[in-house]
Amino acid sequence: MRKEHLFEGMRGRIDDRVILAMAKVPRELFIPESYKSNAYEDTPLPIGYGQTISAPHMVAIMCVLLDLQNAMQILEIGGGSGYHAAVMANLVKPDGHVFSIERIPELVAQARENLRNAGVVNVSMIEGDGSTGLLEHAPFDRISVAATAPRVPEPLKQQLKVGGKMVIPVGTTFQELILLKRKNGFYIEEKMGVAFVPLIGEHGFKE
Ligand code: SAM
Repeated sequence: MRKEHLFEGMRGRIDDRVILAMAKVPRELFIPESYKSNAYEDTPLPIGYGQTISAPHMVAIMCVLLDLQNAMQILEIGGGSGYHAAVMANLVKPDGHVFSIERIPELVAQARENLRNAGVVNVSMIEGDGSTGLLEHAPFDRISVAATAPRVPEPLKQQLKVGGKMVIPVGTTFQELILLKRKNGFYIEEKMGVAFVPLIGEHGFKE
């Protein structure tokens, strides 16, 4: 599929700002050599170590739900290839920053290289268990989780600003994409059924 076709297909369903941000990030730079020709198909693709880069429509939907704006501080869990982080970085620049946590060291190294090649400067790719969050940079305006948790990890709820939003797939047999808003309490909206790889860690699934 050609790049223009992918984004044309999103028009009317996805906010134009998000489509524009995605069009500015070359997805082919985040994909292994053998799949580069599939970069603009609306499908997840393998990135090694049993993991995948999410389908473009899923990145788009999660960005729309988070309503990303300039100067926001973002926490991403499940950095993978770095692509989703790069799209969010585009939406919060010039003053915002994305802290992205990935548990597989080889993917962290690859994602850092991908982000460098794409010229993205406002993403910090960090190795670790994202299910415990990133206390040293908390609280966050937005949290985006790209792996399915058995339930919303408590540390992530506590590291969200009042007025903040989190998107996270949750479930065991069936997975649901949840939008969680923090106001005077926590409010949950179930958005759609999804299929993500598991969040593995202290507040996720056990290895
Ligand atoms: N956002 C990524 C991208 O743009 O390529 C795709 C993410 S992939 C669907 C999910 C990622 O979550 C995998 O790379 C996996 O290793 C990672 N992951 C799973 N559990 C994690 C945890 N506890 N902390 C950080 N990363 C985790």
